[in-house]
Amino acid sequence: MSNIVAIVGRPNVGKSTLFNRLIGERKAIIDDISGVTRDRIYGFSDWNGKNFTVVDTGGFVKGSSDIFEAEIRRQVQIAIEEATVIVFLTDVTTGITDLDEEIARMLRKNPKKVILAVNKVDNSQRQLMANEFWSLGFDDTVFLSSISGSGTGELLDIVAEVLPENISPEANQIRPDIPRIAIVGQPNVGKSSLTNALMGEERNIVTDLPGTTRDAIYTLYNKFGKEFYLIDTAGIRKKAKVHEDLEFYSVLRAIKAIEEADVCLLMIDATVGIEAQDLSILGLIQKRKKGVVILVNKWDLMAKETNTARDFEMRLKEKMAPFTDVKILFTSVMEKQRIFQTVEAALEVYENRRQKIKTSELNDVMLEIIEKNPPPVHRGKQIKIKYVGQLPVHYPAFVFYCNFPDHVRDSYRSFIENQLRKHFKLTGVSIAVYFREK
Ligand code: GDP
Ligand code: GDP
Repeated sequence: MSNIVAIVGRPNVGKSTLFNRLIGERKAIIDDISGVTRDRIYGFSDWNGKNFTVVDTGGFVKGSSDIFEAEIRRQVQIAIEEATVIVFLTDVTTGITDLDEEIARMLRKNPKKVILAVNKVDNSQRQLMANEFWSLGFDDTVFLSSISGSGTGELLDIVAEVLPENISPEANQIRPDIPRIAIVGQPNVGKSSLTNALMGEERNIVTDLPGTTRDAIYTLYNKFGKEFYLIDTAGIRKKAKVHEDLEFYSVLRAIKAIEEADVCLLMIDATVGIEAQDLSILGLIQKRKKGVVILVNKWDLMAKETNTARDFEMRLKEKMAPFTDVKILFTSVMEKQRIFQTVEAALEVYENRRQKIKTSELNDVMLEIIEKNPPPVHRGKQIKIKYVGQLPVHYPAFVFYCNFPDHVRDSYRSFIENQLRKHFKLTGVSIAVYFREK
């Protein structure tokens, strides 16, 4: 489900700190200086059975102390358009500022669910000071200390309560047996050109899903013996030029598309190469365990010598590491180069992702490898792996049953993953490897 919870607010109120709390990770760089480069601007979370993606709008603001108010206003506007729930974060230590008032005005006018969260309420004295924030007029107001975590449970309770129930795609006449493909990537890489090239004129738009959370359009492709849904959440065809340039906007759209899809065609521009934003989209696809094919588009614009593609691919994979078992296609939508191959590649990844490997085959292959390369003794524990199974989930996940699962090191896990990839067809899919006690 593409539920998006957006945290908005002035710089320095604690958005990044709260974000890390909500997604249960405290690895992000949190600094006293606002506007520090952060690479974790969105993360996946769940609470009381509801799934959602948390987005920290502050992570998109470039520059430091002189962040333009206009920029913040634009972000609030986009959050209003794109998010399911908005958490409006303020800071008790500064009290209500003019910009807070202005954001509050923007938010009050819109029909989206808004939760006002007053941060840095670390002690009872601040609790008293925080009462002035009721004057902003939000029924759902919570007091937090993001740094200690107090109050965040209450915030999540409200978030979970107001998120819509999961609607199954089937309820909207989307057939579950047909692969869902999304084209994702930065503005101007060629997404709409590819969509048009694939769909041509006779497009058969199945359904325009209504509602605030599922504004996805599924278009059925059925030609040359292939059948799939192409998912458009980006209004790829009718472009929303207004916000196009904004990273925040395009990332929100990518998040929604990824949630809806089985496989993503991640397009990058050959003349630009792979950028941080492309890598974060790739990271998100991987994290959500969706399939991926990388399209290096506008290949017609590249001066080609022997090995140009090979060298390009090598540089690309260095940046993608460790997730490099991904098919890369060099396309030119303009010159109709390898368009149909993108479909074939995506469908192949779809099959890789949903395959169930025979248990006997899995054990024959993997136990032999393990016997030859057993896990190293760790803290005196001799680890014995006895049996391998695949879990019944919607992506490839494997359990290795052994005597001391906690003593298996990450390096051995990577080794196992690589061996699985080497012996089975797992290209383009994120897999999970677990060690459990037997
Ligand atoms: P952002 O610019 O809105 O993302 O704010 P940050 O998350 O970077 O936080 C700004 C500063 O406020 C940092 O120094 C944080 O350590 C601090 N901070 C965040 N949450 C709390 C809190 O609950 N209590 C206190 N005392 N400080 C906080
Ligand atoms: P989107 O923003 O990702 O949907 O990108 P568009 O499909 O609108 O393409 C952006 C621009 O790149 C347009 O001017 C396209 O004509 C151009 N373009 C798309 N694909 C190619 C390609 O393969 N080669 C070249 N040279 N230009 C392309």
